[in-house]
Amino acid sequence: MQLKLSPSELVSLTTALKRAGDKEIGGQLFGEQIEPSHFRVSTMTIQTKVGTFSRFFVDLLQAVRDAARFFDRTRHQYNRYNYIGEWHSHPSFEVLPSGVDIQSMRDLVRDPDFKGSFAVLMIVRLRADKLEAGAWLFDPRGFERNVKLETDA
Ligand SMILES: [Zn+2]
Repeated sequence: MQLKLSPSELVSLTTALKRAGDKEIGGQLFGEQIEPSHFRVSTMTIQTKVGTFSRFFVDLLQAVRDAARFFDRTRHQYNRYNYIGEWHSHPSFEVLPSGVDIQSMRDLVRDPDFKGSFAVLMIVRLRADKLEAGAWLFDPRGFERNVKLETDA
């Protein structure tokens, strides 16, 4: 799978990462399907509640509100514009999912209430003011693999 990131969202992300310092922050990824396994992330929500230096906790109320706002804006055309996944930062660690991160993604996609066919976890970090990012795909059948990230030109 390939994910294209919007440059303007990356600017907001970098600003938020600078502000958060050594606290983990995160949010959700929403976007548009371009081809069967090619997506463009057009919206990265940024959760108001920050985490600790080693954990990020999803605020479900804000997640639901942010999702509703995205679906309203894209007029509920779910087959084109949809939820892509989650992101959070690792200011003090490599951009690799921790054991807890992997388990929470597995729990998310295997939840009977999960409506999608996959979810991506993207992990980001600022190192010397340069953004580093990695992303992984999870699906309900246990399929997991690396996601290729690119910036939308
Ligand atoms: Zn993590």
